[in-house]
Amino acid sequence: MNGRASGPAAVIGAGPNGLAAAVTLARAGVPVTVFEAAETIGGGTRTTEHVMPGVLHDVCSAIHPMALATGFFREFELTKRMRFTVPDASYANPLDGVAGGATDGGAGRAAIAYRGLERTAHELGRDGGAYAAFYRPLLRHLDGVVDFALGPTMLRLPSDLVAAMVMGTRTFEQGSLLWNRRFREHAAPALISGVAAHSIGRMPNLATSGVGVMLGTLGHASGWPVPIGGSRAITDVLAADLVAHGGAIETDHPIDDVRQLDGFDVKLFDTSARGMAAIVGEQFPARYRRALARFVYGDGATKVDFVLDGPIPWSDDRVAETPTVHLGGSRAEGAAAELEVSRGRHPERPYVLLAQPTAFDPDRNPAGVHAVWSYTHVPSGSDVDVQDRVIAQIERFAPGFRDRIVAVRQTTAAEFSRYNRNYHGGDFSAGAVNLRQLAIRPTLSVDPHRTPSPGIYLASSSASPGPGVHGLPGWFAARSALRHEYGLPAPSLGLGAV
Ligand SMILES: Cc1cc2nc3c(=O)[nH]c(=O)nc-3n(C[C@H](O)[C@H](O)[C@H](O)COP(=O)(O)OP(=O)(O)OC[C@H]3O[C@@H](n4cnc5c(N)ncnc54)[C@H](O)[C@@H]3O)c2cc1C
Repeated sequence: MNGRASGPAAVIGAGPNGLAAAVTLARAGVPVTVFEAAETIGGGTRTTEHVMPGVLHDVCSAIHPMALATGFFREFELTKRMRFTVPDASYANPLDGVAGGATDGGAGRAAIAYRGLERTAHELGRDGGAYAAFYRPLLRHLDGVVDFALGPTMLRLPSDLVAAMVMGTRTFEQGSLLWNRRFREHAAPALISGVAAHSIGRMPNLATSGVGVMLGTLGHASGWPVPIGGSRAITDVLAADLVAHGGAIETDHPIDDVRQLDGFDVKLFDTSARGMAAIVGEQFPARYRRALARFVYGDGATKVDFVLDGPIPWSDDRVAETPTVHLGGSRAEGAAAELEVSRGRHPERPYVLLAQPTAFDPDRNPAGVHAVWSYTHVPSGSDVDVQDRVIAQIERFAPGFRDRIVAVRQTTAAEFSRYNRNYHGGDFSAGAVNLRQLAIRPTLSVDPHRTPSPGIYLASSSASPGPGVHGLPGWFAARSALRHEYGLPAPSLGLGAV
């Protein structure tokens, strides 16, 4: 039914998806209020003095490959509203100096993914040609790959069939026991696995592989940018646009029961699917409640953030040129660590994801202060202290790191689940990223953001296309609501639009 509603809309949650949904509605002329449980807006895009007064750290997201490359933020013209540094090097994977572990067999040489594929291939030596052949067709069909991987649902005909086939075959190769087929050394496979491990899960598997192929392709295309001022800059420009278009934001205002929203014709939830089910309760048909209950949550992350009195002393100096570093050693070692986590254990040598923004955003913090952000995967709900293991893993590739630590703060998965209601057990994807839940997120539907209850939409990363700061679930949910509830077309989001 089209054009049924004419009254105001409520958005529950002010993460990037909630704000993307609210901006889209407000620009279409719908009166919209955003309710945020926390004292501040932003969800996974907050930057605070998290470790030490006077030093800014991103609490959750830090690096934004999807903010530059995907539909919502492109239409919103994000890069004209705030600044990013896009370094030549997207990410690095330090390695031990084992034979065949590096192009020259030298001690501690890293594998580095530059935006330039040819430079990357050149530095990978013997496997360079095979690595370039893996990514070249993906880059040739970049728009189709992004559209296929990050569309409103995977249950639709791809806009570029060749892109979908290229993505599918490469995802299959790197998600199966064929994953070492084209490589002879350790560096190229470690580089690919280091990205795949962004989504938590055993490797090889198709879901982690798909995420890795997509993020790796972006690393060789638009790059992995660092936002100037930290991730909260993204929140700030979204909120400013919302308010400029008549939207309102209420912080410290948790929604626990849908009856709190009486008076709003349309409700968009930037909560987890489980959170939405609890709030809406019996207003959802029993069948839909059962489907939401089948949506599962994954393992978690524990974060360890540092303030240093100097840059990280990497064994391989080139690692200082990359904002993102994957510390898992070889592919086999990274896979072993992820397997441990999936078995409910904490690996001795964990896979650590590290961001070092200082060199790329030098004015964020006082001169001489280096903010370092890192996290590692842990079993769901973990409150185990992994700080020493994370430090040891960094120290392994950067001897002397420990001596530069001025302050450190650990945030366990259990603490994350209290910090943000969407992160059940510390799962910051608001739902496991497995093959089923990539295709069916959160339920089987060609319009998965629209629930069977009139006027209720799921706008968070529990809905397709899943986690990451891209605003897409929010944008898709809002567009569906505009079409079905208000009978309105999607508005223009650019700076030139009124
Ligand atoms: C440690 C960590 C590192 C990450 N690194 C990156 C990265 O580098 N790059 C990247 O792209 N992504 C990263 N992510 C993931 C990214 O932050 C999330 O995918 C993204 O923030 C999801 O956006 P969202 O709007 O769906 O939900 P969220 O950002 O989680 O926002 C949801 C908001 O809703 C509020 N809320 C929930 N329930 C209620 C309620 N009942 N009433 C009112 N308010 C409610 C919450 O308080 C929260 O503010 C990271 C996440 C974490 C935790």
